[in-house]
Amino acid sequence: MKTAVIGAGPAGCTAAYTLRRQGHEVEVFEAADRVGGRTSQLMREGFNLGSGALFLMGGIYPRTNAILKELGHYEELVPWDAQTHVIDADGRRYVVKFDQVMSFLKLPVFSVKDKARIAAGVARQLLSRGPKRCFDGAELARYDRGETLETWSRRVLGDKGHDYITVPYMGFLYAVPMSWLSTSLYQAILQQFYKLSLSVPPRGIGQICDWLVEGSPGARVHLSTPAEAITRTPSGYAVTAGGETYEVDAIVVACEPGVAADLLAGLVPEEATTKLRVCRYSEYAHAQVCWEQNPWPGSKISVALPANMPDAVWGAAVLQSHRHPGAVPPGGEAVGVYFYTPPLAGMTDEEIGRAAVDAARLAYGDAPEPSFVHVFHYRRGLSIAGPGHYATLNSVHLEMPPGITLAGDYFAHAGVEAAIFSGELAAQRLRAAGPAPVATPAGVGDGLG
Ligand SMILES: Cc1cc2nc3c(=O)[nH]c(=O)nc-3n(C[C@H](O)[C@H](O)[C@H](O)COP(=O)(O)OP(=O)(O)OC[C@H]3O[C@@H](n4cnc5c(N)ncnc54)[C@H](O)[C@@H]3O)c2cc1C
Repeated sequence: MKTAVIGAGPAGCTAAYTLRRQGHEVEVFEAADRVGGRTSQLMREGFNLGSGALFLMGGIYPRTNAILKELGHYEELVPWDAQTHVIDADGRRYVVKFDQVMSFLKLPVFSVKDKARIAAGVARQLLSRGPKRCFDGAELARYDRGETLETWSRRVLGDKGHDYITVPYMGFLYAVPMSWLSTSLYQAILQQFYKLSLSVPPRGIGQICDWLVEGSPGARVHLSTPAEAITRTPSGYAVTAGGETYEVDAIVVACEPGVAADLLAGLVPEEATTKLRVCRYSEYAHAQVCWEQNPWPGSKISVALPANMPDAVWGAAVLQSHRHPGAVPPGGEAVGVYFYTPPLAGMTDEEIGRAAVDAARLAYGDAPEPSFVHVFHYRRGLSIAGPGHYATLNSVHLEMPPGITLAGDYFAHAGVEAAIFSGELAAQRLRAAGPAPVATPAGVGDGLG
């Protein structure tokens, strides 16, 4: 089967890898000049800057781990202990470990009564049923009862538990108000807290897509070649990309849902493109503040999270040299400052850069002017999985015509595991359903063949 994969982020690269392992011919089309999507790395003045993703999350990323093992690279992952300062509104700091959610319970802001309430809430969650796979959208849908994370977490963990555990934790991961999110992922994380650990490939998260491409010999990867159109042909589909037309038997569409909707218009029911188009996305920005000379060579802390600070514009400040070797040149340091979505609407990139320098100094101490600040600003950064999101998006799979499947993190929550899981599943669905059947003359052109 000759298959086109559109988009070479982790979802598309995984689909291509899985299809090649099954022996299929694969053409990958990527709009950007490199693979990786929102995990790609950018080299600037000796700094290896992550354009997006920062870390893998251990046992709650089972498909990522399995594929890295298959590729022979799992042992190369560099563990990151992520010693964290939770910074209170009054400037007080408390040490926790980001990968040990329960370490947040040691915060002295909690009274014995608060701790008992939080422990009881977590214990109830541990004993209840929940999704086994934290990034499987279809499973998350089964446990989405329509409640927002804000109301659930205040009700179950109390206001203090919400302000000092849920908000710093999920605020770092998703940067949106808790009232915008569903409960399923957080509940699954609480249930599997003992599986969490953080790690990063030696050259940054972007290396995962490089490894996937290396592990897919024979796959043809067309960079700077955006897919422009898909049409039905008598024997399958034609993909127009970079001005050329490629005849294929099947397609995995692994780019963001709005782009997928444009490419699939006329080939799938309108209801499906509508669901893809209305998938909510957050604006997202992070700035990498870079110093050639490390201002804080002895820092033990590598993550700072504001807590109980309603006016904070950023959700995390991360010391990059601790995260993976080679992130900064010898003797240098960089702080990645990750912004909350709501304030971004009123901020220019220059203001984001200045706020990032202030945040880095607040988090790690005084420092001279940085060598440079690089702002990454996504108008559509992360999909927002509010109540109902998973069921709506996952129902689109059923509306795909034979020979076309979808992949992308938006079926669950932003995260490399969601993308990898969806990419594998898309390839497996194609294998199960087979290529597009030869169209009858009436079927050609109406796309539903
Ligand atoms: C700031 C930030 C921090 C993050 N931190 C983490 C983290 O620490 N850990 C984690 O697990 N995840 C993290 N994520 C999420 C992670 O990056 C995503 O979940 C993952 O990249 C999604 O992969 P994907 O393949 O679904 O989409 P993408 O990575 O967005 O890839 C989609 C690809 O499709 C391409 N494309 C678009 N249109 C076309 C077209 N017409 N033709 C061809 N190609 C096209 C794009 O150029 C892109 O390369 C973070 C994301 C951001 C933005």
